[in-house]
Amino acid sequence: MAQHEEYAAWRGPIVMVGFGSIGRGTLPLILRHIACAPTQITVIDPLDDGEALTELYGVKFKQLGLTPANYRKEMAKLLKGDRQALIVNVSVDVDSLSMMKLARKHGALYIDTVLEPWPGFYYNTKVSNSGRTNYALRERMLATKRKLGKGPTAVSCCGANPGMVSWLVKQALLNLAAEGRKKAPVPKTREGWAALARKLGVQGIHIAERDTQETNIPKPLGTFVNTWSVEGFISEGKQPAELGWGTHEKKLPKIGRRHRFGTKAAIYLESAGGNTRVRSWVPHIGPQYGFLVTHNEAISISDYYTVEREGRPVYRPTCHYAYHPCNDAVLSLHELFGNGGKHPKQQHILSPDEIVDGADLLGVLLYGHKRNAYWYGSELTMEQTRKLAPHQSATGMQVTSAVLAGVIWAIENPMAGIVEADEMDFKRCLEVQMPYLGDVNGYFTDWTPLDSLDTFFDRKGDTKDPWQFSNILVT
Ligand code: NAD
Repeated sequence: MAQHEEYAAWRGPIVMVGFGSIGRGTLPLILRHIACAPTQITVIDPLDDGEALTELYGVKFKQLGLTPANYRKEMAKLLKGDRQALIVNVSVDVDSLSMMKLARKHGALYIDTVLEPWPGFYYNTKVSNSGRTNYALRERMLATKRKLGKGPTAVSCCGANPGMVSWLVKQALLNLAAEGRKKAPVPKTREGWAALARKLGVQGIHIAERDTQETNIPKPLGTFVNTWSVEGFISEGKQPAELGWGTHEKKLPKIGRRHRFGTKAAIYLESAGGNTRVRSWVPHIGPQYGFLVTHNEAISISDYYTVEREGRPVYRPTCHYAYHPCNDAVLSLHELFGNGGKHPKQQHILSPDEIVDGADLLGVLLYGHKRNAYWYGSELTMEQTRKLAPHQSATGMQVTSAVLAGVIWAIENPMAGIVEADEMDFKRCLEVQMPYLGDVNGYFTDWTPLDSLDTFFDRKGDTKDPWQFSNILVT
């Protein structure tokens, strides 16, 4: 990209919380596309290994880990001044809701990429499995959203997924609707979008991802390797598998459990997501196993597209993640769960310099409609990424460009209160993100999960209804 468009200007302090793989990739994008001085930006992180990079960009660095005891005082120092502040929370172990409430108190704009709790939540054996879900975390967020009402914008869960995939679902629905017609009208309300998904007969949505990035150094035994946060991936991988539960589903899986509170848009399984496989499909590679790792978008998308009559859902798509991480991460999960889920001795995030080849295919697979299934998403190679922006893998690029889009949207819509990606202007966000997504394409496929049943060992499956979750879940 020769010229970088400035989408917005910002005059107040910008505080980036956390400077790991996503923070390092996001910083240059903010400086490229938002008119601001580097000295307005402060990066905080308990580790100082990113300090040299902050120096390179002329932004301030403070070695600091936020805790429940210090975050109010420490953040107040960084947010002070006459100008409105912006908080970009790309950390682990910092409670998103505490940060949203703090942002509201200071009148600051806020964005994060995940609903993160303080340390202790993920691994608390005293909390029930239902209580350890992202559903439970999202319910807390929804209660805070209702309580705080309209006010300075706080964008919840705005990375690639959760985040960008909600915008891709909308574009994919329009592409499906436009089949055989020139152009489909764009719904203007949540109800309109849900009605469109229902009219098109979409039974469900996989967030179908394949990461093929690789290095030429074999993964050392006992080291968990990934292309983004190892800490983040282990935490979510050990949470129960979760999925938005569609109205077409006939039967709860044996290990499926309903929640007794909240929207009831999702269920969870009595099984860790990183140890639960589903049958799915991505372009070029075709059928594949993905891990049913819990993600906020699986719940928010199913909730957003629900059609209710007299308080009961009459339409809702199933939605879940079907994630094939990079091969080293698959092996790392195998070792992790083979070792009773014990934390690995070493963690390693592959740097762009180490990655010698591969791509991240991240899209939404809309299934069960007249044309069977349609994948729409980003195909981004490491080679393309290197030319687009520094300090990130292809996976990182899909995330950091979504953070950028979310920040631009927040600046353009500064009084929206707490919002999820489903509620944002998908066209504007994709417009900002598109230059960073590599090839963005749609593919129809005849594949159904029935095609991937093992001829010798699997039960016959539900042949009358190929897209039942019972055919998708690998048991
Ligand atoms: P990372 O592990 O590389 O970096 C996290 C950083 O947070 C580290 O530098 C760590 O030192 C810092 N940190 C830890 N405790 C802290 C504290 N108390 N206060 C401040 N900083 C603290 O992770 P990453 O790959 O950069 O991911 C960052 C976050 O983004 C994670 O929560 C991850 O789950 C999330 N994420 C979301 C998406 C998405 O698509 N929505 C994708 C990737 C990552």
